[in-house]
Amino acid sequence: MNTQYLQFNEKDLSTAGEFIRQGKLVAFPTETVYGLGANAFDVEAVKSTYVAKGRPSDNPLIVHVHCKEQISQIARTISPDAEKIIDNLMPASITVVLPKRSIIDDCITAGLDTVAIRMPESVQARTFLRHCVVPVTAPSANTSGRPSPTTWQRVRDDLDGKISAVLCGEPCNVGIESTVLDLSGDEPLILRPGIVTPEQIEKVLGKKVTIVTDPKSKVNSPGVRYKHYAPKIPMALNLDGDVAKIKDCYDNLVKEGFNPVLLVESPQSFKGCNAVCIGTNDDEVAHNLFENLRILENDYDYIVASFSSKTAFAQSILNRLIRSAGNNLF
Ligand code: AMP
Ligand code: MG
Repeated sequence: MNTQYLQFNEKDLSTAGEFIRQGKLVAFPTETVYGLGANAFDVEAVKSTYVAKGRPSDNPLIVHVHCKEQISQIARTISPDAEKIIDNLMPASITVVLPKRSIIDDCITAGLDTVAIRMPESVQARTFLRHCVVPVTAPSANTSGRPSPTTWQRVRDDLDGKISAVLCGEPCNVGIESTVLDLSGDEPLILRPGIVTPEQIEKVLGKKVTIVTDPKSKVNSPGVRYKHYAPKIPMALNLDGDVAKIKDCYDNLVKEGFNPVLLVESPQSFKGCNAVCIGTNDDEVAHNLFENLRILENDYDYIVASFSSKTAFAQSILNRLIRSAGNNLF
């Protein structure tokens, strides 16, 4: 397949929207990561998303909308809590899980009776979605399991020749995926942490939210149990920022014959080592995270990362780093 690289002008946006309505796959920018879009009302199109990505079919997809009115086309009921989130927090990097309408096929939800819905904050994303008219399923536009793409060039690296088009927009601002908030049950549950924090959600809802930390305990969000975001080379993750410990790990790897690289908060503390800055604040760390992994895997053969920030957003970044490292922590 010849993948077309489309620009953000009226003509190309019309083409992109037309492609989606014809059942083709179009990758597009959002503020979190690039998404791989398909017409949510076209079962064959949705199924081809799983094939292009190599994604397990029991990992449900998020349906993307450009306006609040579209949500009621997809959700069967909108609870008072859901209404509060939709009115006060959307559009933003948050996904809500609500009871689904029957028009939403089981192949989108992996057989669940609920559907995940997101209205991106990115104006480029919503412009594209408006041109699609229909709601659009979109997982990250990468090969399943790899670090998510935050530029259109990274989408090309993984999916060139496998999808009809890439809408070449801006690099993603946030850099990690949306917060997933399940509002389909009796109590609100955060199934995946993101830039929208529990505190922000609690403020809007006026009640406590539960963060589901152990993915195995929650069958409700099958996607979170997969190894994810992994570079092609092995990775270890330090959680306390202890310079001596990190240096020790690095030296041992060198002794074993590796050409390792440190991805750390203060590379200047590691004289004589290959060392790259992970970011000077949480926003920067998230923004560069997946791109850093994709750059470093080409130049080295082992990544030793360290991240010790303790903010609410840092917990969301850590969630990704731990999966990238395949839980190889020290
Ligand atoms: P991804 O598209 O890979 O960024 O991931 C989508 C995330 O949303 C995964 O963690 C899914 O498990 C989650 N998700 C999608 N649909 C549902 C649903 N109906 N119920 C719970 N979680 C969902
Ligand atoms: Mg993904």
